[in-house]
Amino acid sequence: WHLSRALPFISEGKLVKWFGTNTDIDEQKQLQRQKDDFLGIASHELKTPVTSIKAYTQVLEAMLSREGEDKKAAMVAKMDNQINRLTNLIGDLLDVTKINSGKIQFNKIKFDFNTAVQETAHDLQHTTNKHIFVMDFAEDAGYIYADKDRIGQVITNLISNAVKYSPHANRIVLSTRRSGNEILLSVQDFGIGIPGDKLNKVFEQFYRVSGTKQHTFPGLGLGLYISNEIIRREGGKMWVNSVEGKGSTFCFSLPVVADD
Ligand code: ADP
Repeated sequence: WHLSRALPFISEGKLVKWFGTNTDIDEQKQLQRQKDDFLGIASHELKTPVTSIKAYTQVLEAMLSREGEDKKAAMVAKMDNQINRLTNLIGDLLDVTKINSGKIQFNKIKFDFNTAVQETAHDLQHTTNKHIFVMDFAEDAGYIYADKDRIGQVITNLISNAVKYSPHANRIVLSTRRSGNEILLSVQDFGIGIPGDKLNKVFEQFYRVSGTKQHTFPGLGLGLYISNEIIRREGGKMWVNSVEGKGSTFCFSLPVVADD
């Protein structure tokens, strides 16, 4: 029985004295720090060999293609895809450590928002042969001042989730809007949706909706946590509307910069 867990003295329903210490909180903080340290070291150590394997695979694929060994080259290309998935998972773990230790950095530049969304969608079109990306862009969306790669990462995450969680749908709608001094992006899918009582949990780290349908989709439950943190630190907000069985719409807003 730890002192800090001693119950407060209650007299006639009033709290009289609390014999607690800060030990529990300190212990918790220390545990969290140890967890973050471990995550940081492990993901950093994993990154180096995976980067090296990727380089060799690419060289091997090029060699096999040159020699007309198409079947072998196709197998190596599949290996390369899996290495990309591994690289992304490690990247997410590293990002979480950076966020939790306050070491995430933003290299801000001014850029056109619609173009950034369009470029990201274009890059992702090859990841699905089922879905068409319907673009509904506001002409006056404007410019933002933010880390372009990080914003690209957020858009990629939302579109990838839309693809992943709507396996039987054939379109995803990407809309941009201007509202006062803010730019909005919404990514709408017509997939499995999210139960109402789980909606605000999806932005927590390592959270994944559990259920009969969800467990078949791969993931660590980090993408939305990272995305939400990036948007928050860039001065914006992220939210979601969803109807289970019908689909989800993930949105974020960011401050606009004057287009001089
Ligand atoms: P991951 O997809 O790797 O599990 P995320 O952090 O991106 O991690 O998402 C957290 C959880 O939120 C997912 O596991 C899933 O349950 C739910 N989710 C996210 N996007 C969608 C979506 N578009 N439709 C349905 N559920 C979603």
